[in-house]
Amino acid sequence: MKMKQLTALVLAGMMILPAAAVTADDSAVEAIKAKGKVVMTTNAEFEPFEFKDGDEIVGIDKEIAEKIAEKLGVELEITDIAFDSLIPSLNAGKADFIAAGMTATDERRKNVDFSDDYFNASQTIIVAADSDIAGREDLDGKVVGVQQGTTGDIYCTNEDGSGDINVKEVKRYPKGMDAVSDLMTGRVDAVVIDDFPAQKLVEKNPDKIKTLDEAMTEETYAIAVPLGSDLVDVINEVIKDLNESGEMDKIVGKYISTEEE
Ligand code: GLN
Repeated sequence: MKMKQLTALVLAGMMILPAAAVTADDSAVEAIKAKGKVVMTTNAEFEPFEFKDGDEIVGIDKEIAEKIAEKLGVELEITDIAFDSLIPSLNAGKADFIAAGMTATDERRKNVDFSDDYFNASQTIIVAADSDIAGREDLDGKVVGVQQGTTGDIYCTNEDGSGDINVKEVKRYPKGMDAVSDLMTGRVDAVVIDDFPAQKLVEKNPDKIKTLDEAMTEETYAIAVPLGSDLVDVINEVIKDLNESGEMDKIVGKYISTEEE
């Protein structure tokens, strides 16, 4: 409820102001407990971290989010939106945290606070099974598909000046899956995307596409909260508990097979 509506209700004598609401502006945790629910926002197109099983959103991030809700003693609600809308939506107050395989970058740190890291990742190249592209240097002059607004996009477009490849064109897609469809029909020469989602995409079409071994970046995933939100302390406790109890490995193991092929 908006503060104005709340004030109106209190003035109208329709409700007694709960103690938690008084401190809601300062403490996100108190406000969440008062509401009885915590809202995670994500882009559920990123298997194994978040994806749809029928109507349900499942995946590693969802399971971590459930533990966060459990720790807070509230219900978990999930909103599924475009990846590049996640930070604006969080900062518009529409969610309490982002769990979306999101890489903690310095650029994003200007707009959100990140929890401790919970996963190491890298950008990977997917190409057609018969492609002669064998590594990043072969991407020079090629058309590359990426998921819009992701670190793969930033790397390939060389937005932050850190890129070391010189592609001909970057095509941006709302979903990694759409970039892969265009790869399979020859509209792009390669797709650059996070390593585990790349693996999952290739598993669905093993005859047509493959991943290259090269890890192009070193990244770590973290959960984002609005700047200054005290929710980050609860999230960090949950991550620590999951790591120490071995539960994090179990969650990850449910979705990622670590067996060598
Ligand atoms: N890790 C990448 C990023 O943070 C991609 C995340 C995603 O597509 N969900 O930009």
